[in-house]
Amino acid sequence: MTVVPDTSGLAGALSGASAILFDLDGVLTPTAVVHEQAWKQLFDGFLASVPDAAPYRESDYFDHIDGKPRFDGVRDFLTSRGIVLPEGPADDEPAHDTVHGLGNRKNKVFNDIVEAGGVQPYEGSVRLVDAALARGLKLAVVSSSRNAPAVLKAAGLSDYFPVVVDGVVAVAQGLPGKPSPATYEYAARLLDLPSQDCVVVEDAVSGVQAGSAGDFRSVIGVDRGAGRQTLLDAGATVVVNDLAELL
Ligand SMILES: [Mg+2]
Repeated sequence: MTVVPDTSGLAGALSGASAILFDLDGVLTPTAVVHEQAWKQLFDGFLASVPDAAPYRESDYFDHIDGKPRFDGVRDFLTSRGIVLPEGPADDEPAHDTVHGLGNRKNKVFNDIVEAGGVQPYEGSVRLVDAALARGLKLAVVSSSRNAPAVLKAAGLSDYFPVVVDGVVAVAQGLPGKPSPATYEYAARLLDLPSQDCVVVEDAVSGVQAGSAGDFRSVIGVDRGAGRQTLLDAGATVVVNDLAELL
């Protein structure tokens, strides 16, 4: 009998890996949709007070904001409209029209939406997480968001992920955000593994670029709207529409 090596499904995509490093928003939970909503609400309101500014479009989220640390998203979107605002202090009032004020306003809108509606994780993602754990793989969450622990808790996923590198950890450790690979590399170190042994799972272009810039085993792109070819061009090893496809 001929033994054919199994290179399909989970075994193929994760072959030889010891850990999976998951982005959170848009990979484990559909919170990318909530972030999109919150950004739209923020900039619709802000741009209404700016004469002759082009209105906020859905594509702005993917072009300037998705996957980046919040204040970078604010700054990069404003730059796309030729708008320069003072930075303001990091804890600036959400009511202030500064980079940090707008970022904190967006955070408030996001938290209000999450608290009102709760968060259901993607079913296919939970199935992959369960299968990975059953095979003894280590798991971590690497998110630009400062709300990652709150979102994991709201989604009932906290117990799965002893290692969470979020926006708060990144700032505390002085790590640059995605598209730098630094936060993913830090998660691998916390798991006591070389990057080579870890697979990165991402839905955003900046996140796929982060994985691709590091020395990781592979980068799995999840197409939640960024576009299959766009994610491949950004450096994804493989692109799926749902993580259950890897089972
Ligand atoms: Mg994401």
